[in-house]
Amino acid sequence: MRGLEQVVISVDELEALRLSDYVGLNQEDVAQEMNVSRPTVTRMLAKAHKAVAEALVYGKAIKIEGGDYLVAHPRFVCQQCQHTWDEPTDATTTTRTCPQCHSSAIRRHFRSRAEF
Ligand SMILES: [Zn+2]
Repeated sequence: MRGLEQVVISVDELEALRLSDYVGLNQEDVAQEMNVSRPTVTRMLAKAHKAVAEALVYGKAIKIEGGDYLVAHPRFVCQQCQHTWDEPTDATTTTRTCPQCHSSAIRRHFRSRAEF
C-alpha cells in the first residue's frame, strides 16, 4: 500500500457499510444496531460509499481510521468465567481455550459502539 494515495474512512463508517451493504440491513436497522440516528447512518454511508468509489476509480488505498485495533485484535469472551481478552496481532494460532479457566466455551465478542 506504500506510495498509494489514501482515502480515509472511520471505523463507524466501515461498520455502517458492513451492516448495510454486506449484511444487508436497511438504514433503520443499521441505526438501531449502531445506536445512532438514521440521518447519521445516511451520512456515514454516503461518506463510506464515496470513499470506496474513489478508491476503486482512482486506485487509492483505503485507510480505516482507528480500525486497526478492531481488525488486528479479535476479542474473545469465555462463556464459563466471562473472562474477556484480545487476541494478540502476532498470534500464530487462534485461541481455542480461555486463558483463565481453560474452558473451550469461548466465542468471538463483537464490540458495540460504546466499547470503542
Ligand atoms: Zn474462562
